[in-house]
Amino acid sequence: MLALLQRVRYEEHMSGGKREKLQSVKGMHDILPADMPRWRQFENAFRRIAAVYGYEEIRTPLLEPTDLFVHSIGETTDIVEKEMYTFVDQGEKSLTLRPEGTASCVRAYIEHNISNQEPVSKWFYLGPMYRRERPAKGRYRQFYQAGVEVFGDAGPVIDAEVIALCVQLLSELGVSNVEVLVNSLGSRDGRQSYRDALRAYLEPFRAQLCGDCQRRIDANPLRVLDCKVPNDAKIAQGAPTVLELLGADDRSHFDRVCALLDQLKIRYRVEPRLVRGLDYYTRTLFEVRDLSGELGAQSALLGGGRYDHMVQDLDGPAQPAIGFAMGIERILSAMPASAEPKRSGVFVVCVQPDLAKDALELAQALRKQNIAAGVDLRGSALKKQLARADKNRAQYVVILGPDEIAKGVVQLKNLETQNQEEVPRQKLIEKLQSVK
Ligand code: AMP
Repeated sequence: MLALLQRVRYEEHMSGGKREKLQSVKGMHDILPADMPRWRQFENAFRRIAAVYGYEEIRTPLLEPTDLFVHSIGETTDIVEKEMYTFVDQGEKSLTLRPEGTASCVRAYIEHNISNQEPVSKWFYLGPMYRRERPAKGRYRQFYQAGVEVFGDAGPVIDAEVIALCVQLLSELGVSNVEVLVNSLGSRDGRQSYRDALRAYLEPFRAQLCGDCQRRIDANPLRVLDCKVPNDAKIAQGAPTVLELLGADDRSHFDRVCALLDQLKIRYRVEPRLVRGLDYYTRTLFEVRDLSGELGAQSALLGGGRYDHMVQDLDGPAQPAIGFAMGIERILSAMPASAEPKRSGVFVVCVQPDLAKDALELAQALRKQNIAAGVDLRGSALKKQLARADKNRAQYVVILGPDEIAKGVVQLKNLETQNQEEVPRQKLIEKLQSVK
């Protein structure tokens, strides 16, 4: 019914006048071919490091039942309260474009009975996420995350290993002006007493807090701690911290994580006010922030932590878990400018338009041998073809003219050294393969 209503509304909107200019949805961006080298640089490094640490890739659907996110992320979080893209489909099911990756991984872990097949699972994922936030630099409505999840290991050693993975990845990508923040939220029972302590602290300030936070005192006082309204943030500064109230087991878990980070020579700062915007975390919580100032308020490059109850809360077995997610766009902004891409491959040019077919034939012969070969088939002037070879960052141009064709040779020019030599056509592939 709702789906029908949505369609009627859309049709009314369309017939109401001129079609709106077609452009991408606000906060959602194209990644153009020119941007891809940096994206690939990130993805290759992430995949390599994930493999080195023993993680396997998982891909889950972009759409999930809305309930999955409501029950895992938490009803009183900003994401569930106001940011999800939710709609009712033709089968009257409420579906949501995934706002993050962890809940989907947990659903898949339970659905495929993975805990019966292996004691510990280490997964990584990469892909787009959707949140209807106010767009700003580093904050989009479709953004990409890369993340890992570990199921079946209660830590604390794995907690330190997961943080070490993040630190190694950022360092290999040249993102060095960063700070690692760690905290512990304690176990779920401990969290309850912390909530009570927070409520007691916040109550006298109730009238001074924003409307959202007045509601949060009752629904979920932890959320007051990450409110961005300046006066609320000031009040939150004076609140008791969760670290002060940690129980003995949680304290020892946290101390061991810190000791392991010291042992691995990872620099970090304990930030007792770090709570992050999702409800499912327990015990270890961490975030890496960019210190360059480039990203303004969106300085959180990645965040993660332990979520020991989520698998069971979503009707799976009792299995502890930890993970993190990083915003790829934010990491790319923090990465140093890349050097001009190295030259590679070949570009075949011909000195007159009627030789374009010979150029294509030669390019095809090279491609069949796995040699990247560009060619301009539009009958452009030689100068234009050479300019295109240069723009394509080809390492060699192969020049074909009537004399060369008659003699069964080609001119081979190295665009790096500008050396040019005549090479018999038969020897060309062998020669290019030897210098590849
Ligand atoms: P979260 O899933 O909220 O824990 O966020 C993990 C990371 O995803 C953040 O540290 C950001 O780098 C990135 N991220 C979250 N929301 C957005 C957004 N709206 N736009 C861009 N990146 C985001």
